[in-house]
Amino acid sequence: MVDLQGQYQQIKETVDNSIQEVLNSSTYINGPLVKEFQKNLEDYLDVKHVIPCANGTDALQIAMMGLGLEQGDEVITADFTFAATVEVIALLKLTPVLVDVDSKTYNIDIDALKKAITPKTKAIVPVHLFGQVANMDAILEIAREHNLFIIEDNAQAIGADYTFKNGTKQKAGTIGNVGTTSFFPSKNLGCYGDGGAIFTNDDKLAHTLRGIVNHGMYTRYYHDVVGVNSRLDSIQAGVLKAKLPLLDSYCEARRNAARFYNNAFANNSSITTPTTASCDEVCDTCNCHVFHQYTLQITNGKRDELHKHLLGKGIPNAIYYPVALHSQKAYKDARYKEEDFPVTNNLIKTVISLPMHTELDKEQLTFITESITNFLK
Ligand SMILES: *Cc1c(COP(=O)(O)O)cnc(C)c1O
Repeated sequence: MVDLQGQYQQIKETVDNSIQEVLNSSTYINGPLVKEFQKNLEDYLDVKHVIPCANGTDALQIAMMGLGLEQGDEVITADFTFAATVEVIALLKLTPVLVDVDSKTYNIDIDALKKAITPKTKAIVPVHLFGQVANMDAILEIAREHNLFIIEDNAQAIGADYTFKNGTKQKAGTIGNVGTTSFFPSKNLGCYGDGGAIFTNDDKLAHTLRGIVNHGMYTRYYHDVVGVNSRLDSIQAGVLKAKLPLLDSYCEARRNAARFYNNAFANNSSITTPTTASCDEVCDTCNCHVFHQYTLQITNGKRDELHKHLLGKGIPNAIYYPVALHSQKAYKDARYKEEDFPVTNNLIKTVISLPMHTELDKEQLTFITESITNFLK
């Protein structure tokens, strides 16, 4: 699905130098490269505060701790996402409220979100799924009206731009009260181990979060709140500092691959290609979808056969996600009714994600697309 080796070979010298710099200084924790990467990412995202941490799941948990959410508070998120999002809500003894997604973008459905709001609702967690930013115009409006926090799960969409209805643009993850991301190796900006970060423009919240990641300490050995230990280590920061200047070109490479796929499948009646919210096709000028995944819907009932067929031909592909969160043992709840999740219940049966990374060449893309169109003829 990804070609981390091919990508590394392209950037070997800068990454190796960065790692060597850490080894030479032997400052493995909170070294200068962590600060440098933090600053560079703040500049790139145009956000006041980046708080690095150990992974994207921690980032979500710490964001929720920082907002002071309490047991019983309801937090609304999408039914169709990676489990980390709902996991931390449950872990903190908050009440997860899963809602269906939009049939075109696969992001949280605005009507379902509105219907799920109760007096106990305290926060919304939009997930910018597969690299496409959720409908933040609508989500901001709802949050304002009901006085709710917005925590953007931006693990899959770092580098994406959101274009507001009035034409202004803002980086995904910097729009809500707080945003989180993951630097897991296969993410769009991946390190060579685990890593994550939290973003906010709120000075007070940033201060709170910096203490929480560090055992609740604001003054050394004085623990004001219950915190956690969640750090981005210096070697990972070194890798990320070397890769950050390439992120825009990585997004462009992904969009080019998506464009190739879209064209190849355009006339196939069994395939629904991804839609982008602000544009009808993968447009040349905007960065609204950064294709963490390129995900098709196979509408003729042959998704599972195609999955096996492609694996047989040595073409990696994956089903993200095969089970709706509301059906998972850990997250079942008597309040959920199957008829409230028509889109997710359909997507889990039809979606298939194709290889998507920065090193895909025309020959590979041709082989992949021809194998699929031949099978679905
Ligand atoms: C990857 C991912 C996470 C978790 O990130 P980790 O670094 O693996 O903990 C959270 N949410 C979404 C949507 C993700 O894709």
